[in-house]
Amino acid sequence: MIKPRHPISTKSIRLANHRANREVERMRKRLAEFDNHDHGKDGYCKFCTFIRPDPIGGAAITHVECGLCRTVVTSPTTAANILCHTCAETNELCRRCGADLDLANRNAMYPFQKGDPNGE
Ligand SMILES: [Zn+2]
Ligand SMILES: [Zn+2]
Repeated sequence: MIKPRHPISTKSIRLANHRANREVERMRKRLAEFDNHDHGKDGYCKFCTFIRPDPIGGAAITHVECGLCRTVVTSPTTAANILCHTCAETNELCRRCGADLDLANRNAMYPFQKGDPNGE
């Protein structure tokens, strides 16, 4: 399938410039926020809090099993959280992406690795 052409004009070029520059500005702001904070918010890592944009048109309720305890996690957007509140908090992991809240590799065991002989 051939998509309809995008006619180019002085106006279209200006608009494209504007969109690109605006997007770069947004990214700069996000990176600045990222650098200015030690931690993310509300149980999310710094990446999910400041960098990762909210999905466009993601307003559908999503149900996902928690990656640790299999409780069904309900999220109000299609960017579903992958951990339930309790597991995320206990293990200090990001609810949304599962990264360590400090975004650093830990040498110590995570609470979910202790006393879980099946070690999922
Ligand atoms: Zn859980
Ligand atoms: Zn995250």
